[in-house]
Amino acid sequence: MTTTPITPITQAVHWDLHYDIHLGQTWSRFMDGLRQGKILANECGSCERVFVPPQDYCESCFEKTDGWRELSGEGTLEVFTVAWHGFTGGPKPPYAIGGVRLDGASTLLMHWITGVDFTPGADVRAALPFGTRVRAVWAPERTGSILDIAHFEPIE
Ligand SMILES: [Zn+2]
Repeated sequence: MTTTPITPITQAVHWDLHYDIHLGQTWSRFMDGLRQGKILANECGSCERVFVPPQDYCESCFEKTDGWRELSGEGTLEVFTVAWHGFTGGPKPPYAIGGVRLDGASTLLMHWITGVDFTPGADVRAALPFGTRVRAVWAPERTGSILDIAHFEPIE
C-alpha cells in the first residue's frame, strides 16, 4: 500500500506548570552555596575531575563524588549561542547562552552571557572570541537558585 504524503499538523499548546522538586543533598548544598554568594563544586576522588554544577557520581568513573570546594566565579567562555527569542523568566533578547569553564572546574556551567552588543549587525564573534574571560554577576537578592547568579559578563 502506498501512502500519500500528508502535511504535518501543528497545534498550539500552552504549558504553565508550577511544581516543587526535591534537589537531594548534592544540589541542595550547591543551591545553599549560591544563596550565600558561593559557587561550590565537588570532586571525584578517583580521577580528580571537578564538577560544577556538582554531581552525585563521576560520569567518567562512576565513583561517588566528594571533596567540596568554592570556585572564584571567574572562568573562560568556551561556547555560546545567541538567543533571539526570550522566554518567561529569562533576560530580554537578544542575549547569549554560554558554557563557562570556571577556574578549577572540569565541566562547563551553562548560563546567560550579557554585557556584549548582540543586536543585529554587531560583531559578536569579535566581542566574544573563544576563551573570553568572564565572571559571575550575582543577583541583588539570592534565594538558593541557579538564578542567584544573574548572568556572566566579560572581564574588562
Ligand atoms: Zn572520576
